[in-house]
Amino acid sequence: MQDLLEDIAARALGAEDRGKVADYIPELAKVDPDQFAISVSTADGQLFSAGDARTPFSIQSISKVFVLALALGQVGEALWRRVGREPSGQSFDSILLLEREKGIPRNPFINAGALVTTDTFLGSASPREALGALIRFVRAASDQDDIHINEAVAKSELETAHRNFALAHYMRSHGNLLNNPDLVLGTYCHQCAIEMTCEQLALAGRFLLDTAGAPSLVSRERKRRINALMMTCGHYDGSGDFAFRVGLPGKSGVGGGILVIAPGRGSVAVWSPGLNSYGNSKLGTEAMEIFARETGWSIFG
Ligand code: GLU
Repeated sequence: MQDLLEDIAARALGAEDRGKVADYIPELAKVDPDQFAISVSTADGQLFSAGDARTPFSIQSISKVFVLALALGQVGEALWRRVGREPSGQSFDSILLLEREKGIPRNPFINAGALVTTDTFLGSASPREALGALIRFVRAASDQDDIHINEAVAKSELETAHRNFALAHYMRSHGNLLNNPDLVLGTYCHQCAIEMTCEQLALAGRFLLDTAGAPSLVSRERKRRINALMMTCGHYDGSGDFAFRVGLPGKSGVGGGILVIAPGRGSVAVWSPGLNSYGNSKLGTEAMEIFARETGWSIFG
């Protein structure tokens, strides 16, 4: 495993086309694109890493996986009355289907759906309380204490979150946002600004493994369902492409991270800041394609 990860990291570091760093959040535009890391936490508790695996990065939409688990923990199946479970085939921040579907977002991983899960998780708590519970959850999942929110990134996103505000207000007009959009957006931008290293993220992903020794923070049935949603919706309009190339449940973020779960085998985190046209890490996707091929860990064999 170590040799494979070293080989993948060496190929990535030599790549000419590294994709394009997200620049619609000004703080993220400052990130050095010449970075790459991959970490694997195996079901039996071993940790393997290569590249910049101890460099913290902005997990962005990968936070949607943790918040979904927490929102389901709070309201259970009732969540599915407010958000769907189908891939959208649209970009992560699209408003297109919301009008047709009366303010019910297609799934919890596009931005509109994530705003609903954040609103649900927020409930009647304050953003500070909700974010505290989220950070505690991520720290418990990874068994790592040194995980924090980058305030500069949160502020930078909040100042430029015009599309996300539009989504939130639109859903509120349909009664599908219970809290004030300002509170929801403040919480959402802070959850996206959580910083983790690849090692920490691979460890945190263990909460979605259904194997002996994995943290039991959510039920087995919920693990299975969250994995299914990651498989079908975790890469926006690139979800089919990721399933085709990698064949594993994954969730990407515009910070260039991807969390991938190999059921029964382990949790993998990969990070490279440059994105492809879907807004998913370009080299991260390519690395996962090699990883799945070489390990045979794809759920399709
Ligand atoms: N915070 C980002 C946004 O709402 C997350 C998008 C992503 O990571 O895909 O635009």
